[in-house]
Amino acid sequence: MIGGLPVRALWHEAPDLLEFEAGVLDAQPGRVRLSRSAFYPGGGGQPADRGVLRWAGGEVRVVRIEADGEIVWHVLAEPVLIETSVLGMVDALFRRQMCQLHTDLHIVNALAFQAFHGALVTGAQIGDDGTARIDLDLPGADSDRVRALEPAINDAIRQDLIVGQLYVPAEAATAERGLLRSRSVSPPPQADGTIRVIEIAGLDRQACGGTHLSSTGQSPPVRILKVDNKGRHNRRIRIGLAG
Ligand SMILES: [Zn+2]
Repeated sequence: MIGGLPVRALWHEAPDLLEFEAGVLDAQPGRVRLSRSAFYPGGGGQPADRGVLRWAGGEVRVVRIEADGEIVWHVLAEPVLIETSVLGMVDALFRRQMCQLHTDLHIVNALAFQAFHGALVTGAQIGDDGTARIDLDLPGADSDRVRALEPAINDAIRQDLIVGQLYVPAEAATAERGLLRSRSVSPPPQADGTIRVIEIAGLDRQACGGTHLSSTGQSPPVRILKVDNKGRHNRRIRIGLAG
């Protein structure tokens, strides 16, 4: 039953791969399910990738990804029916900026976690305008102390720390302090029951399902644009790429 197969998630298996060939599992006018895909489907505050699919009949833009569990539809800009194999091309500039901001949010989060004794994440959203926000549970923290994290964030970027991914058993993930950083949601376990962990060498380890840089120095410096109080358990920090 090929129609029930899950898409192979190349954005996890090969995070730097932006062009890929894939077969078609199912197709309707304006949307297609592929045997494998490098398009990040969105989630955890990171928007879905953009890009195009090229096939024997032409080329069409992917406008969004609709994921229902492991069933993933690439929604197309035109009502074309794609029934042959495709070449998928992820928008490299968009992906790069998402990876920069996402990795920078990990740095912000790591430094806040250290400075404010285990502050948990209550939300995050990456924009398409070179900014991103993270909401942290920092009751009683002085906003000036939050703003003062900026030089340390840029130090971590300048040090060009290696960013890697590893998979740890779910019980070990629960036992390691700070690994599951979100107050509300955790990334779902992999099919084999392990949890994907993103490690910034010497700085941070936390469970995450998104896409990241392979080292922190691939981000331009960042600025803390704003620190807002959004309720007792919610301090909103907005950062922007400065380069
Ligand atoms: Zn992440």
